[in-house]
Amino acid sequence: MKTYSVAIDGPAGAGKSTIAKAAAAQLRFIYIDTGAMYRAVALYAIRNDLPWDNAEGKLAAALDNIEIAIDYVEDSQHIFLNGEDVSGLIRTPQVSAGASAVATVQAVRIKLVELQRKLAKGKNVIMDGRDIGTHVLPDADVKIYLTASVDARAQRRYKELMEKGEKVDFETIKTDIIARDKNDSEREFSPLRQAEDALFVDNSNMNVEESVNYLISVIKEGIE
Ligand code: C5P
Repeated sequence: MKTYSVAIDGPAGAGKSTIAKAAAAQLRFIYIDTGAMYRAVALYAIRNDLPWDNAEGKLAAALDNIEIAIDYVEDSQHIFLNGEDVSGLIRTPQVSAGASAVATVQAVRIKLVELQRKLAKGKNVIMDGRDIGTHVLPDADVKIYLTASVDARAQRRYKELMEKGEKVDFETIKTDIIARDKNDSEREFSPLRQAEDALFVDNSNMNVEESVNYLISVIKEGIE
């Protein structure tokens, strides 16, 4: 049976995860959040005092001790680091910064991309990240580059963290997003960029529901 893969890439805070997850649920596709994997590696580095930038090759040397896995609990993706469910621990600003740093290390990317391709094989998947359409799944049936203005993205992150009861400052969030954009798009290995055959979508003026409906219509069109 033919299976389909959908690649959604874009910068931090464009709502990729929320939108991809909702679209996957409606289409009955498996949703794979690749950012969570980089976040889990960052959490391991933080816990074990390893340099995020792989100074002295220490992070690369530790990779054999890091086992990342994903599983689904009531349809939502949970991420496991050496068997521990760390889903609730990887959404902090410190882990976000760490993820963006460890994602520049080639050995980390090689390990995680291998896992991502394995997970996507032979299944209907929507995978989101930074390099899915350009590198992980270059033959994806549908590719979408989802973005929004820096202000719109910072505003969304701000609201999300406030709702979680975290003490946050809008300007700090905006500065973090700009720094992550820079890190992600200027890194040497698999930088964030739009695949040539990806559809560019700017959802600055769309709410979540509108974005989900729009993406579903694009995906349906692409796989029919
Ligand atoms: O998507 P999310 O914000 O959870 O990703 C965390 C970080 O992981 C990103 O800032 C990016 O540096 C990195 N990442 C990546 N490639 C992916 C997914 C995430 O480099 N496919």
